[in-house]
Amino acid sequence: MTQSKDILARRRWLMLAGASAITALVPTLGWSDDDEEEDGSDGGSNTAISPASTGLTGKLVVVGGGMAGVTAAKYLRLWGGSGLTITLVEPATTYVSNIMSNLVLNGSRTVTSLGYTHGNLGTKYGVNIVRAAVIGIDKAARVITLSDGSQLPYDRLVLAPGVEFEDAYGLTQTDYETRTPHAWRAGPQTQLLRDQLAAMPNGGTFVMTIPKAPYRCPPGPYERACLVADFLKTSKGAGSKVIVLDENTPADAANPYSAIQAEVHTFTQAFTSTHAGIIDYQSGVTGIQIDPATKAVSYTDRMGIAHSVSPQVVNPIPPHRATGSSATGWLAQAGLSNSANGKWAVVNVLSFESTATGAAGVHIIGDASQCGLPKAGHVANQEAKICADAIVRAMSGQQPDPAPVANSACYSPITATTASWLTAVYQVEGGAFKVANGGGVTAGAKPVEASGPSAENFKDMNTWFNALMGDSFA
Ligand SMILES: Cc1cc2nc3c(=O)[nH]c(=O)nc-3n(C[C@H](O)[C@H](O)[C@H](O)COP(=O)(O)OP(=O)(O)OC[C@H]3O[C@@H](n4cnc5c(N)ncnc54)[C@H](O)[C@@H]3O)c2cc1C
Repeated sequence: MTQSKDILARRRWLMLAGASAITALVPTLGWSDDDEEEDGSDGGSNTAISPASTGLTGKLVVVGGGMAGVTAAKYLRLWGGSGLTITLVEPATTYVSNIMSNLVLNGSRTVTSLGYTHGNLGTKYGVNIVRAAVIGIDKAARVITLSDGSQLPYDRLVLAPGVEFEDAYGLTQTDYETRTPHAWRAGPQTQLLRDQLAAMPNGGTFVMTIPKAPYRCPPGPYERACLVADFLKTSKGAGSKVIVLDENTPADAANPYSAIQAEVHTFTQAFTSTHAGIIDYQSGVTGIQIDPATKAVSYTDRMGIAHSVSPQVVNPIPPHRATGSSATGWLAQAGLSNSANGKWAVVNVLSFESTATGAAGVHIIGDASQCGLPKAGHVANQEAKICADAIVRAMSGQQPDPAPVANSACYSPITATTASWLTAVYQVEGGAFKVANGGGVTAGAKPVEASGPSAENFKDMNTWFNALMGDSFA
């Protein structure tokens, strides 16, 4: 590993070049089912770039080809230059975007339309793609073990494995896959849930659950409730019901909607006005039990009263944790899921390097990390860039940026044609990212949300989504 005096100047130039390239590439970004080439690349936009020769060398391994991992691999090449050996370890040949996947449930999109390949990482950015899963990490030897039995050494390791789902409410992983899908990782379960919704009788009942925070995509479950309600009332009649069982407790005991984890104003309006009479929102729910065979659901409401319902479709979103952080999981075995409850990887927010003992050179980004930022795809993309910047600086003998800034932006469809939005800027204070307000961190600062859903926002949502996916995968 060597240093170069002009690396920062070159990197600044590359950032600008990268930014214009993103704009230029967005229109040609291919979904995996329409204009994908047979080699898995995206047709027309996969010309190899010519990264600068920065003088940096070393082995960088990125684990996980989702929102965080692909962005990290791409920007490590753009900012780190041609001398780095960058390898992405990801078992799946196609990544299915969770973002927009709720629109599969009302028939607006298909699962295949949300597929992205890793072709550009290989052909454009010279990243080696290894089709395997990580099953072990030896931090002292700086080597990882893969599911195919091989081993891969690293100088720096970036882990972006997302989340896994706990067995909850009396359900198993097989139940999620075959009869009571959570569909909180887009793919076959999303299609199963869509099929179950399409087959519901007129005036049927749908029950969904929301786990206690932190969970992936704070507004996502409420967005799902809205889209399912919109679909059922237009396709299955006004007698349809969507029962939302939220395990989060209201911040204000007198207001049940104050348990909503994001866009409180928007979703309160949606539940009490737009979808009134269809959505029955219950917060502070405990003791949820689901029979996977009969789909009967029992729970206790926040007043302590027991209920049972017999819906046709049940959509449990179970509590989750960083992938590999079960007691026997590879992340836990390596001592990297070091939050108080053992479910998340605590990181230094300036570099996303793990704070676990003996974990120098191991960085953890995306939903698996604990850093004060929400678990969201837009945020995962931002974390990847802060991490890539810090790694390049460290390899150049420099300190990380002492004041990184991250942005969260998110659109939430409320009906098949309208959407709302949420945005926030985050700055570091006291070792964690916190919401900034008017140019600095302010106690009690909150993300900003749209005044209401609109068709214009829905249009902007597609622009935002294509730009984000282009920045990550193209
Ligand atoms: C319904 C829904 C809607 C959403 N909507 C939005 C939205 O509108 N806006 C937004 O910003 N976010 C949204 N999100 C959240 C967003 O999808 C996630 O926050 C984001 O995908 C996290 O990125 P990640 O890279 O950490 O994880 P992922 O994108 O899940 O990627 C993890 C990758 O790691 C791989 N992997 C796992 N284990 C291993 C292993 N052992 N070895 C190698 N690879 C491994 C997986 O195969 C996967 O490809 C939504 C989520 C859902 C469920």
